[in-house]
Amino acid sequence: MTEQAKESEVIDPEVMPPETHLELSKPSVPVTIEELSGLPDERGVEIVESRKKILDSLRKASILMTSPSDWLLFRTREGAVTAFLQDSGCKRIWQIWGISITPTGEFQKLVDDNTKDFAYRCTADGDCKVTGLKVYDIEGIRYSTEDFCKDVKPDLKKEMFVKLAAVANRDGNIIRSLTGMKSVALEYIEDVWKGTNKKTSLCSKGKGYGTQAERQGAQVQEAAHVPAGQEPICEICQARAKFWPAGISRDSKKPYGAFWACPSREHKWSVRDEDFQKTRIAAEKDQAQQEAAAAVARGE
Ligand SMILES: [Zn+2]
Repeated sequence: MTEQAKESEVIDPEVMPPETHLELSKPSVPVTIEELSGLPDERGVEIVESRKKILDSLRKASILMTSPSDWLLFRTREGAVTAFLQDSGCKRIWQIWGISITPTGEFQKLVDDNTKDFAYRCTADGDCKVTGLKVYDIEGIRYSTEDFCKDVKPDLKKEMFVKLAAVANRDGNIIRSLTGMKSVALEYIEDVWKGTNKKTSLCSKGKGYGTQAERQGAQVQEAAHVPAGQEPICEICQARAKFWPAGISRDSKKPYGAFWACPSREHKWSVRDEDFQKTRIAAEKDQAQQEAAAAVARGE
């Protein structure tokens, strides 16, 4: 690793020495592939790497500042879990990204004439000094019928509650899009929280999570939902392995976990589903990181 790549791990780019090439490694400086490839030796690659590192440091520092209750988990039918940073968490992290928010237009009050239920809507522009990203006219909206204010009295107080919640929602939408915290892979958060007392099992659960029994049932099903063509391969005959759900051994009466085995059982080749899933997740993460690096190189 070069001296400059090490320097770039600091969170505040302001403290980095103002050298020309280092300047390019700030995420706020747009660079094109042409500009990068025009640099001598491996400098282009180094710059991409250090830009990626700055963003990664910021994301990690942000996630460390959040609590499990700040995150809402979503799960696809295939079992992939992503986390959404709720407005409460956005309030904790915006400062380290140098985000400023400028309201645009007036508050709008929308009223249902029949029920007198109402909503407040507002918009703002957002600017992230660290990355140079900007977003425009981002909306926030909250309703008087939502749980957080359903029983608030008197009406004037309720008005204030809904109005403030709309602002928090607008700011949350801005902060999430500027920091990439709309959809974070659960494994990434687990990685960052390793060694702390924060546990992703304490995160709030949203769409895709049923009752506990349904969740356990779904876990058994999940492994069977590995996309066709991505099953593990028998190391002996290269055939695609067959999935066997968890169960209880007929002979020993002991429970066993789900596993994959060669369809021709003569080979006696098998892999525990848990181990196979870990390798898969690691491979997906690698790919995601490569894509992120490519996106940074394109100046996105
Ligand atoms: Zn085989």
